[in-house]
Amino acid sequence: MPHAIITGITGQDGAYLAELLLEKGYVVYGCFRRTSSANFWRIEELGLAGHERLHLVEHDVTDLSASIRLLQKTGATEVYNLAAQSFVGVSFEQPIATANITGLGALNLLEAIRIVNPAIRFYQASTSEMFGKVQATPQTETTPFYPRSPYGVAKLFGHWTTINYRESYGIFGCSGILFNHESPLRGKEFVTRKISDAVARIALGQLDCVHVGNLDAERDWGFAREYVAGMWQMLQVDEPDSYVLATGRTVSVRNFAQLAFAAAGINVAFQGHGEEEIAVDIRTGKTLLKVDPRFYRPAEVDHLIGDPALAREKLGWKPETSLETLCTMMVEADLRRNKTGYSF
Ligand code: GDP
Repeated sequence: MPHAIITGITGQDGAYLAELLLEKGYVVYGCFRRTSSANFWRIEELGLAGHERLHLVEHDVTDLSASIRLLQKTGATEVYNLAAQSFVGVSFEQPIATANITGLGALNLLEAIRIVNPAIRFYQASTSEMFGKVQATPQTETTPFYPRSPYGVAKLFGHWTTINYRESYGIFGCSGILFNHESPLRGKEFVTRKISDAVARIALGQLDCVHVGNLDAERDWGFAREYVAGMWQMLQVDEPDSYVLATGRTVSVRNFAQLAFAAAGINVAFQGHGEEEIAVDIRTGKTLLKVDPRFYRPAEVDHLIGDPALAREKLGWKPETSLETLCTMMVEADLRRNKTGYSF
């Protein structure tokens, strides 16, 4: 039975990856950071809580000695580093904590692998945020990076460190440059889930209006469950490499909101420009969405669209779920949750 470590088990990708690895017969050590209130709702929602091969372990990726002991204790042969301060907005407020967790965390794990057992395979969760102010469209593995946030800069450090340990020490380190990937398990601080949750509450009469930031931002949004399968596939091939996982389609926040309202049976029309832009219910004339500059970022990533050709060719990976299906899945989950009042 293979043993794997997932750092960041409490996050969206950690939960889906644990589900996949348990299905494949792995023993999974799911690491979480000590917080005053540990939050395992995703593990619970997927029905994984209490699984006999899932061990939840308190671990801090910024602690090298703890990382060394973790590898020794678990005998893991695969490490998936999904731990991060992963919210771009927060990274502007907490740049040093973000650099420590998101950047140095990857280095600590790679050092621990080098010390304990250099044959351990390592997955680094890199991100399209590293492309930031994009230098070419669509973005591929060879597109130059231009990060636009402390989060993007920290992730770039983890990305290059993974490549450097591959080239310097022959460590099987793979970097997955994943474009935005969403699901009903996305946190509400991200715009898709913030919108799907708000739309559900508006449809249920629990909320009047949602306030969002930049409606013009465009993202290449895929379904997270498919993206974690790509992570696993990267560690199963003969040679380590870096891969873009993306859908190849980009959609604005405005259009995502329109899809989300439609999924709840509400047709909206957008009116006005900039900070004055609103979305109005065509049937009732009510304003259901407003722009609030408080949600603007000091530096914005305007447009992301990835080309996953390499992953398709080398891993046989391809996205299957359309944004329309994904958005409907998210709104339906939030309608269900908000009806019962049990929503995280
Ligand atoms: P990111 O791509 O990792 O930053 O994912 P997010 O879901 O946090 O943001 C995606 C895009 O949506 C960014 O360009 C944000 O500026 C934009 N956006 C617009 N309104 C909001 C909002 O209310 N919350 C968040 N999180 N993002 C918003």
